[in-house]
This record gives sequence, structure tokens and C-alpha cells, in this order.
Amino acid sequence: MAVEREKIYECEVKRRRVKTGGGYEPFWKIKNVAIALADSDTEFRCKDCFGEVKLLGKNNKAGAPAYVEHKVPADSEYCSGGMLFLKATDGRVAKLSEHPVA
Ligand SMILES: [Zn+2]
Repeated sequence: MAVEREKIYECEVKRRRVKTGGGYEPFWKIKNVAIALADSDTEFRCKDCFGEVKLLGKNNKAGAPAYVEHKVPADSEYCSGGMLFLKATDGRVAKLSEHPVA
């Protein structure tokens, strides 16, 4: 039996914006993974738990868009958008990653 993979099609990407008073400041923005790739974004994190994600399916054909999955299974277990969390039946409460990407 094939192992079910987590597929998350929206993530956060790190962008920079002009700061009041000059200079730039980083901020995170929710974005579709395929669009982020097309825009050459390079820093990603989970939009729900802020944990690290792995970028997958970059070279997929049209109709099979790129996606991300949690790098650390523990994040998926307690992320409100995580596959393992959504499958859990013990009434657990979602929380942020222990190692959020800053
Ligand atoms: Zn997450």
C-alpha cells in the first residue's frame, strides 16, 4: 500500500517590504506554492504552524501543481493544516511548530 503523502498547496513565503522610515523589513505572505515558484520565492514555511516545509513536485506536469509538506512529522501532528493532525482522533489541539521558521 502506498504511503499517503501530505500535500499542502498554500504556504507562506518570505518577502521584503519598504519600512516606514527607510530600509526594508521581511514579512511572511500566504501564497499558492506553484505561484511562489513561478515568482522565484526561495524561503517557505507552513502557513498554519510556521514550521519548516519541503518543496515537492517542482517538475510536475501541468495539472499536478507543486506542493509542500512538513519537514518534521511532529509539526504535522499538531499543525491545524497537517495531515497527521487532521487524521488524529484523540481531540488534540493544534499548536505552532516547536521550531518555527523566523
Ligand atoms: Zn504546519
